[in-house]
Amino acid sequence: MKPKKSLGQHFLARGAVINRILRALDCQPEDKVLEIGPGRGALTLPLLDQVGTVLLVEKDGELAERLREKLGEKPVEILEGDFLELDWAELESRLGRRFKILSNLPYNVGTAIFTKLLRRAAPGTEMVLMFQREVGERLLAKPRGKEYGSLSVFAQLAAEGRLVTVVSPAAFQPPPKVESIVLRFRKREDPALPPEEWESFEAFVQAGFAQRRKMLRQNLRAVIPGALAEEVEARLSAVGANAQARAEELSVEQWIRLFKARLETLGR
Ligand code: SAM
Repeated sequence: MKPKKSLGQHFLARGAVINRILRALDCQPEDKVLEIGPGRGALTLPLLDQVGTVLLVEKDGELAERLREKLGEKPVEILEGDFLELDWAELESRLGRRFKILSNLPYNVGTAIFTKLLRRAAPGTEMVLMFQREVGERLLAKPRGKEYGSLSVFAQLAAEGRLVTVVSPAAFQPPPKVESIVLRFRKREDPALPPEEWESFEAFVQAGFAQRRKMLRQNLRAVIPGALAEEVEARLSAVGANAQARAEELSVEQWIRLFKARLETLGR
């Protein structure tokens, strides 16, 4: 069966990388694990030696069928379908609220799947995920670099992340054109903003980064209703940023403070 490019099918073919990914997930026998996109089972089979409950979500019906045959009697459930369309309640009805998450993410929908995980998984959830390197680097990026953007700010609000390893194209069959990166995340138990506010926070930060080369005060006037230029500057100065700052100069913490201050009325 030919790998489908449209589904980002690059199968892991190097034992050392597989071991490293599974070590990072640090499973105990009683853990429950959700794997997104199991493909031919490169991660799934060794994972099943470590834990008793595994739920797989695979979009490719043919692959899901083959995997079902391969896994035989193993205690594993396969849901066939697009993870992006899947109702979170359905996952929880099978795994409960707490489970670990593992995926060698399909590149084309990696960010969309990760965003869903950040929004929906329970606080404290641990995940080990493989991304296209460039995307993964954006998730961990610190202020002032070109990788730092609204996705970095949102990811770091919602989770603590760290690098596990960089993986060369040669570790996959067929090899992708670019390098990959494995990251480990833990969803924050006590994020600086409550989840009900995340959607508006994301929109706010995205607006701030809309035109990266512009000064932030210009971008922000669009999302702070009716604000005069001086008022936007006053808010920037209140979070310790200067009036000429660009979006990429603000730390995650400064973004959060700026967001919280957006509705405060300044004495006019
Ligand atoms: N886990 C396998 C491995 O490491 O060898 C396969 C990884 S491959 C990069 C990505 C897998 O995700 C493929 O099996 C693909 O069919 C599946 N996939 C692609 N889009 C998906 C989606 N939206 N929901 C669920 N699975 C998806």
